[in-house]
Amino acid sequence: MHAAFDVVVAGGRCAGSPLATLLAREGLSVALVDRAAFPSDTLSTHIFQNEGAKVLERLGVLDKVLASGAPWIEGNDARIDGLRTVASIPRRSDDPGTWLCVRRPVLDALLLEAAAEAGVEVHTSTRVTGVVERDGRVSGVRVSGEGGERLLEATLVVGADGRGSAVARSTGARSYNLIPGQRFAIWAYHEGATWSPPATLFFHRWDDELVIACPADSGLFLVVVVPPLERLARFRAGPEAFFEAHVAACEPVAAIVDGGRRVGKLQAMLRWTGYFRESAGPGWALVGDAGHFKDPTPGQGISDALRQAERLASAIVAGMGTTASLDDAMATWWRWRDDDAAEMAWFAGDLGRAGPVPPVLVEILTELAAKGEMGSFLEVMNHRAKPSEVLTPGRLASATGRLLKSGEHPRRQVLRQTKDIMAEEVHRQRLNKHPAYAESGAYEGADTDHEVVVNPT
Ligand SMILES: Cc1cc2nc3c(=O)[nH]c(=O)nc-3n(C[C@H](O)[C@H](O)[C@H](O)COP(=O)(O)OP(=O)(O)OC[C@H]3O[C@@H](n4cnc5c(N)ncnc54)[C@H](O)[C@@H]3O)c2cc1C
Repeated sequence: MHAAFDVVVAGGRCAGSPLATLLAREGLSVALVDRAAFPSDTLSTHIFQNEGAKVLERLGVLDKVLASGAPWIEGNDARIDGLRTVASIPRRSDDPGTWLCVRRPVLDALLLEAAAEAGVEVHTSTRVTGVVERDGRVSGVRVSGEGGERLLEATLVVGADGRGSAVARSTGARSYNLIPGQRFAIWAYHEGATWSPPATLFFHRWDDELVIACPADSGLFLVVVVPPLERLARFRAGPEAFFEAHVAACEPVAAIVDGGRRVGKLQAMLRWTGYFRESAGPGWALVGDAGHFKDPTPGQGISDALRQAERLASAIVAGMGTTASLDDAMATWWRWRDDDAAEMAWFAGDLGRAGPVPPVLVEILTELAAKGEMGSFLEVMNHRAKPSEVLTPGRLASATGRLLKSGEHPRRQVLRQTKDIMAEEVHRQRLNKHPAYAESGAYEGADTDHEVVVNPT
């Protein structure tokens, strides 16, 4: 296995840069290519959790990230219809902290800097146009940048190049288990917002409304509104008024930003589809959004990308030796990624669903809150408990029983919703084992496009 580089990584944000850093620190020769010039923004809000912060600590960049002024988010103020709970975010003794909200130009530039410091050959403002193959294996990438077109040869090519991955496209990686989004997201920053410690994340979901907000770096306060897709036309007709009206409807968030000043333009992502992609083959692998994207409502993508980078780096180091051992290691990595991400992907789709939250789910959360056990739900966000360990069949049955007894909702509706939840769970478990590929026609009629608008105003 002789090539100019051991590994070429396409994409240099939260998946690509940490991966390149870790590989270079293990003594591998690594090139990283990103079409962006850093510091660079990307279409994403940026709340991440304990496990992601831990990776930043291990990478040695956490102190620089904290120097941005981002406070640890220690509280969670959740409203789910009639339920309102304020809970502390669980923190283990070896956690450097809890959740953070750091704008991407800040976070991604620090990650890329760490890669360069580790000895990675970094090419920014350079686009990967496709992979090249030799003897049935991917053997490098074609890139196009300031110096024109060139070839970067490598034993392994990793696509960390996001949702529109050029590596995925040119290797023909197929998509499976698609989850079309049912909402869109608009966000903005406020200066001079008045909040009192502890820094708290607001997750308010009532009727068909969803507002998420928390303090970010540099004294800014992030507010995200996540309306159902049916309101897109109204948004387009008057983005500013639409955003402000949605913020005003969430009383505690409106009170925090009242008296402050909105800075910068609105940002928006008007459509998304969750997916998994085939993520390994001869001489190539995918990591981060290139291989899997989920509804952004629970804010998992950054921590996932960081955790995946660590896992993939270990797999690559262990697999380097022969092409067979490398291919085996990559196939094992792909299986791990699917196991690791499957439950959260479905759960994220549920959180981002349009329409009212089924009362039986509200009842489960109400019971958890009454027992002071919301921490177990927040551990799902921390990727330390699976949704199925918290939303158990036992809890579903008890919540259904309590709702039937209370007579608050029509009996048939409660029973139907419980039955639907159980049937969906069975269907999902089947899909986890036997994926439905995009090419199979399974999604005919579903809108699985990405439509993206940045700064609509
Ligand atoms: C609206 C929205 C809100 C979100 N909010 C959150 C949140 O609050 N918390 C959270 O954890 N996650 C959130 N996410 C998800 C998060 O943004 C992603 O999961 C995360 O960015 C994945 O990181 P990545 O490094 O895999 O990909 P990306 O961040 O997409 O980085 C890919 C990189 O590849 C580069 N690239 C692409 N194509 C090429 C090419 N051909 N050649 C060279 N370079 C290329 C790009 O320039 C980019 O720098 C959100 C996503 C969206 C869409």
